[in-house]
Amino acid sequence: MTRIAFIGLGNMGLPMAKNLLKAGHDVVGFDLSDKQRAAFEEAGGRTAGSIAEAVREADVVITMLPAGEHVRTVYLGEDGVLAHAKEGALLIDSSTIDVETAREVAQQAAAKGHPMVDAPVSGGVAGAEAATLTFMVGGPDEAFAAARPILEKMGGRIIHAGGPGTGEAAKICNNMLLAISMIGTAEAFALARRLGLADDKFFEIASQSSGQCWSLTSYCPVPGPVPNAPSNRDYRPGFAAAMMLKDLRLAKETAESVGANTPLGHHAEELYAALADAGYGNLDFSAIFRRLNGEI
Ligand code: NAD
Repeated sequence: MTRIAFIGLGNMGLPMAKNLLKAGHDVVGFDLSDKQRAAFEEAGGRTAGSIAEAVREADVVITMLPAGEHVRTVYLGEDGVLAHAKEGALLIDSSTIDVETAREVAQQAAAKGHPMVDAPVSGGVAGAEAATLTFMVGGPDEAFAAARPILEKMGGRIIHAGGPGTGEAAKICNNMLLAISMIGTAEAFALARRLGLADDKFFEIASQSSGQCWSLTSYCPVPGPVPNAPSNRDYRPGFAAAMMLKDLRLAKETAESVGANTPLGHHAEELYAALADAGYGNLDFSAIFRRLNGEI
């Protein structure tokens, strides 16, 4: 039986760790929060009092942490994973972080003989609970092959993106594209309304025309055309605008660091920052429609 240490039992990590338990793995969880550790124990999991204790016996270490700084601390800190993991243990970081940190941590892991992949996810809390996440995985072939059977217990699609950091690159680029297409869709509806075109008619036409995209046909930002979209439940997330803003900031920093020209990505970041500053960061990211339509 594979022994797994799971560090970061938050909104995403807790249901992911529970799915590993359900699949019959021996999982030891660790989180700084007493509440999150207690929630994992309630689900039948074991918990540890420190990272060192959690990883000492583990064949696989999985992390699901807020941002790059936490990933650095947890892996590279004196009391961290690299200082205490078993020889050859496989390391999987599923946090959404910057590519540079992902590559640096992977390099230090490799220097200590640990295979490592960056494996950020798409699919949100619902996907984590239902074990239908998409994993975008960066790392050497052997590390990907070793990680795949574990990731399959938590996800539906497991895609090897390339070498270290390319999982994070895929996640950041995808979400930048998503933000831009959502803003475009929202702008088009706001203009269409002012031109006297009904929402359902514009939807019917655009979804069969060249404006068709996922933001329109699967996640429509106006209520009505796509019944299970957050727009039909007062924009309860879904995927919160604050989370989208985090990913757009990562995209902006990354683009600057490699000299990529992403003007619409920059503008999308400004629009989501304004939405969050106005106090709506907890709404679904499709609520950008309400902002562009002058409702909030
Ligand atoms: P969260 O804040 O709910 O959970 C993070 C957990 O990490 C917290 O419980 C926190 O106590 C713990 N933590 C922080 N520092 C720690 C440390 N040093 N040692 C141990 N535990 C520590 O965040 P989340 O929503 O679960 O997101 C986790 C990651 O997944 C983020 O990178 C996020 O961008 C990404 N993500 C989230 C979603 C989503 O819908 N929530 C979707 C896709 C990707």
